[in-house]
Amino acid sequence: MKAIRVGQFGEPEVMKLVEVPPLQPGPGEVLVRVHAVGVNPVETYIRAGTYARKPALPFTPGNDGAGVIELVGEGVSEFRPGDRVYLAGSSSGTYAEYALSNAAQVHRLPEPASFAQGAAIGTPYATAYRGLFQRAEARPNETVLVHGASGGVGTAAVQLARARGLRVLGTAGTERGRELVREQGAHEVFDHHAPDYLAQILKATSGRGVDVILEMLANVNLGKDLTILAPRGRVVVIGNRGRVEIDARETMSRDADIRGMVLPNTPPAELASIHAALVAGLENGSLRPVIGKELPLGEAAEAHRAVLEPGAFGKIVLVP
Ligand code: NAP
Repeated sequence: MKAIRVGQFGEPEVMKLVEVPPLQPGPGEVLVRVHAVGVNPVETYIRAGTYARKPALPFTPGNDGAGVIELVGEGVSEFRPGDRVYLAGSSSGTYAEYALSNAAQVHRLPEPASFAQGAAIGTPYATAYRGLFQRAEARPNETVLVHGASGGVGTAAVQLARARGLRVLGTAGTERGRELVREQGAHEVFDHHAPDYLAQILKATSGRGVDVILEMLANVNLGKDLTILAPRGRVVVIGNRGRVEIDARETMSRDADIRGMVLPNTPPAELASIHAALVAGLENGSLRPVIGKELPLGEAAEAHRAVLEPGAFGKIVLVP
């Protein structure tokens, strides 16, 4: 089978499409024929060798994907060969024609969703759901600002929050991105590069501020976020690419919280609850992942460059 292999940490070109030996599922595992691979920013940090967690070399990147069950290992009763599934974790890596996962990392992909849409679920939708409902404890009728709403996590968060009855504000850096965020259900959309956008957001809340912020770039925004929070507001730090200075007094006057998260910290029961909600949302059509770009698996290097470029537009997917 063909797979992307990383033999050394470095630039996107260290990812090579090569022939590797076939995989066999062990006890409790499934083998999936991968039809679409979700590309996430974290895979670029891991490939570059700058992430806290460094896999042993060589390795195949990738956590997310969607496809069809090919084989099931001993003790797996919940899936059968031929089932459509999405992957939210893989021991062998999903940038490949086939991937191994534990049965608990694999979830049914309801018929309305394409394989490309299934590949957008594992990390982005689970992160958005956990950020909104498990970390921020966002409730219907509250106002959420999705700060960075045009990418994989942001579009997911807008759809999830809108379906739950929140008032949804979103930001994007391009007109195309803002139009996309509006189409996903945001009530109001702002340009995070406009000099006065924080004042515009405050105005949109009649000066009260927002109850919840999902933050995609905390090193740029965290200090500003604290100034547009409502009393008892919560900022969830989802993305961060550097250090930031804040005025802690802004949290004191509001009884505000800054809550960090990384998806792999999610306890198994909470993760199972997230995926049950996501499968239901795919089934009832309230969740419709946006695929901005599809590239052949051999163009993984191009996908890694694209996912870090400004002007996000939904999800980037590789097709083996
Ligand atoms: P993505 O698809 O590349 O989207 C990036 C988003 O950040 C876009 O909406 C982009 O908007 C926005 N952005 C760029 N500059 C911004 C600014 N100055 N202020 C606010 N937003 C800005 O990436 P993703 O998959 O959605 O992930 C978003 C971030 O979360 C990444 O840093 C990723 O590593 C992180 N993440 C963390 C977890 C976790 O467990 N904590 C899980 C998944 C992802 P424009 O391009 O329109 O400017």
